[in-house]
Amino acid sequence: MSRTEAETGRVVVVGSANADLVLQVHHRPAPGETVLAGTSTTTPGGKGANQAVAAARMGGRATFVGCVGRDGHARLLQSSMHEAGVDLAGVAVVDAPTGHAVIVITPDGENSIIVTPGANSSLDADAVDRSAARWTGDDVVVAQLEIPMETVTRAARRAAQVGARFVLNAAPAAAVAPEVLALCDPLVVNEDEAGVIVAHAGVDLGANLEGIKATAAALTALGARSAVVTLGPEGALVASAAGVEHIPAPRVRAVDTTGAGDGFVGALAARLSRGDSLSDAARVAAAFASAAVTRLGAQSAYVEESALEAVLS
Ligand code: ATP
Repeated sequence: MSRTEAETGRVVVVGSANADLVLQVHHRPAPGETVLAGTSTTTPGGKGANQAVAAARMGGRATFVGCVGRDGHARLLQSSMHEAGVDLAGVAVVDAPTGHAVIVITPDGENSIIVTPGANSSLDADAVDRSAARWTGDDVVVAQLEIPMETVTRAARRAAQVGARFVLNAAPAAAVAPEVLALCDPLVVNEDEAGVIVAHAGVDLGANLEGIKATAAALTALGARSAVVTLGPEGALVASAAGVEHIPAPRVRAVDTTGAGDGFVGALAARLSRGDSLSDAARVAAAFASAAVTRLGAQSAYVEESALEAVLS
C-alpha cells in the first residue's frame, strides 16, 4: 500500500547533469564519413538530472546532489529541474564546464551517445556527506556511474548508515565493487550493463531470454539485494530472493528512446519512496518509460503521473 504524502520519504539523486546536443540523422556516420543532421537542439539531460526530474514528475519529493559549471548550460539544467519541483540545495557550482553529451538519433528511435563529464567529475564524497546529514531511513538514495566511483560508494555507505534504501543504476556499463553491490536494493541495469557485471565475475549466461533471466538471477547471487534488468520494448525483469519476474512494457510506437532508462529509474525510485513493492514500482516505471519513448527528448518526454494513462491509451 502506498504511503500518504506526509509519510513519503525523499528521492535523493546523487548524480550527473549534462546539456544534451541532440542531432537527428538519417544514419550513423561510418568511420571517415560525414553526415548532415536534420535538426539539432540542446536539451537538459544527464542520468542524474533526468532521474531527479522523472521522480518529481511521478510525485516523488526529489532532491538532486550534483555539480554544474558557471555557464549557460548550468542555467538550462537548473531551471529544468527547478520547474519540475526538484530541490537543488545540493547543487554545487564549480570551476569546470557543465557536463555535456552529443546524442545522435536515427529514424528508428535508437540513439548513440558521447558524454564529456566536465563538472560532474568534481562531485566528491564530501558533497555526499553534506547532503547525507539530512537523510533519513524513509529516503531512497539513487546513484549512477557518470560521477566518480568513490562518490557512488560514499552514497551507498551513507544510505546504509541511516537505513535509507539505495538504488544503483550501473550505467554507463562498469563493474561494481562487491561492497556496493551488496547495498543495492535494487541494482538497475539494461541487458548490456548486466552482462558487463556478470562477465566481470567470470559468468557467461548467453543472450536469449533464458540467458537474460539467468543473468538477472546472477546479479542477486553476486550479492545485490535485488536487481532490475530493463529490456527495452520487452519491459523488465525483477530479480529478488523470491525469483525472477517478467514485467511487460506497454506496446507503444517508439519515437526517441533517449532517457528511457533514466525515466524508468526515477519513476521506480518515486514509487519505492511511497512504499510500493519492487514489482509494483517496476510495473509503473515500465509504463512511465514507455510513455517517454513516444515523445522526443529526455526530461521533456517525462509526463506527470496524472497524464500517464492518457498517454498510453
Ligand atoms: P536508454 O539508454 O535509451 O535510456 P536503457 O537501455 O537504459 O535506455 P531500456 O531497457 O532500453 O533502457 O528501456 C528502459 C525502459 O523503457 C523499458 O523497461 C521500457 O519500459 C521502456 N522502453 C524502452 N524502449 C521501449 C520501446 N521501444 N517500447 C516500449 N517501451 C520501451
